[in-house]
Amino acid sequence: MTVHEGLNFVGGEWAPSSSGATFRRCNPARPGEIVGEFPESSAGDVAAAVSGAVEGAAAWAAAPADQRADVLEAAARWLEERAGDLVVEMVREEGKTRAEAAIEVARTPRNLRFHAAEAHRIEGRSYPAADGGIVYTRREPVGVVGAITPWNFPLNIPSRKIGPALAAGNAVVFKPSPVTPLLAQRLVEALLAGGLPPLAVALVHGGAGAGAALAADERVGAVTFTGSTAAGRAVHRAVGPSRRCQLEMGGKNPVVVLDDADLERAAQIIVKGAFGLSGQACTGTSRVVAHEAVHDELLDRVVRAAEARVVGDGLREGVDMGPLAADFQLEKVLRYVRIGEEEGAELVTGGRRPDGDGPGDGHADGYFVRPAVFRDVAPEMRIAREEIFGPVVAFQRADGLDAAVELANGTEYGLSAGIVTRDLDRALEFARRSESGLVKVNQPTSGMAMTVPFGGLKESSTQTFKEQAGPSMMLFYTREKSVYISPR
Ligand code: NAD
Repeated sequence: MTVHEGLNFVGGEWAPSSSGATFRRCNPARPGEIVGEFPESSAGDVAAAVSGAVEGAAAWAAAPADQRADVLEAAARWLEERAGDLVVEMVREEGKTRAEAAIEVARTPRNLRFHAAEAHRIEGRSYPAADGGIVYTRREPVGVVGAITPWNFPLNIPSRKIGPALAAGNAVVFKPSPVTPLLAQRLVEALLAGGLPPLAVALVHGGAGAGAALAADERVGAVTFTGSTAAGRAVHRAVGPSRRCQLEMGGKNPVVVLDDADLERAAQIIVKGAFGLSGQACTGTSRVVAHEAVHDELLDRVVRAAEARVVGDGLREGVDMGPLAADFQLEKVLRYVRIGEEEGAELVTGGRRPDGDGPGDGHADGYFVRPAVFRDVAPEMRIAREEIFGPVVAFQRADGLDAAVELANGTEYGLSAGIVTRDLDRALEFARRSESGLVKVNQPTSGMAMTVPFGGLKESSTQTFKEQAGPSMMLFYTREKSVYISPR
């Protein structure tokens, strides 16, 4: 298997870290298999990357919208031409199944095309002026944008940040997750192959230290971050009030199932949301709030579906749940399973590593865990409140919509919430009372359209700008001036 030798892209050139330090990334299905070795960037490397971007920002801001759109279009084509290879790289690096990786690899170029079109839609307004002159607003790029991203969508999330940032005429310094450095590098290669001027983008590999240095650099006008709430809070403090900051963070997403629900459908919705992407989607389902009347039958269906999941290396035929992405993810999931049992919830199925070379897993040392279902989970238990970010779902009971809403809203998070019912009135009432940025009726909590504003409420987001699409997306990447002109 190829071991990739990764590099930073700083000041318009591919380069190792200035100290020569590196980190390794392994395949989570076979931790002995090295995917690549990447630079461990210091604060000095990050500062050099920002200096290059500062130098390149003015020329890119002056590039016509056609040119900015053409680059994003060409990068999209580059990614599409290599889709087969990218799918395999994503499975090896991050642990998705082949089918899950194929969805993300197909979606990323579509994001770039969507953002390419946004380059032509940077508009201002004009206002009547008392003296017969004109007042108008103009939107300008912010300058240098810092993009800090997680590993769970290694192409899709960065494309949703770098795409609009470049479309608006900003230079970008990209600090991806150290769990998925290879895919990050591919995205930068795509942009450069698409004709992006080399100083308009920089890539700095590394961990929290590199991210912190980027967030703290006063020359970075806007920081867009997706990741955990704890890291997001640190980024927010580092950016401070004088620069702009957009944070999309954790979730503890519930699905409410009412007494009139089609239980087969409800079970499918829960299983897709809870165990898709091995439970590692920010909008994944981690709680089920089931009406008393349907609780036991629904639980039974979800448990049977969980037990039927084939867990294994995502490159193998027939596997429908890959490994967790990293050793720290496996440890965290196993730790929360222990916490749940100690708190008195009943673990009905899963929550353990598959035994040896059991059906479908094939690699006993990989970061695999069987999908877990807990019942009798009280609202004060940690497994009901804290983000686990793995294939663990907690069942809670409610005797009606009021109790279900209270349980659903009962965490510090507010990213996504779902309801399964045939009753439109109760669905709309839930949508009104839910404290989540996304509300899904008869759909999994995970998944969203790239044309729709995306972001959480409460501790899931800064709520200052919605990501992905909608009017506020480009507002984040541009700043506004009001210009007053009088007749001579
Ligand atoms: P993480 O917070 O550990 O890391 C995210 C990124 O921030 C990484 O690039 C990391 O190196 C960097 N980082 C960490 N500490 C930092 C600091 N103090 N200063 C600056 N940068 C820092 O998250 P993760 O494990 O990569 O991803 C999983 C988390 O991301 C989950 O909490 C999940 O809910 C969240 N997530 C949220 C969304 C969303 O849209 N709301 C989407 C995907 C993932």
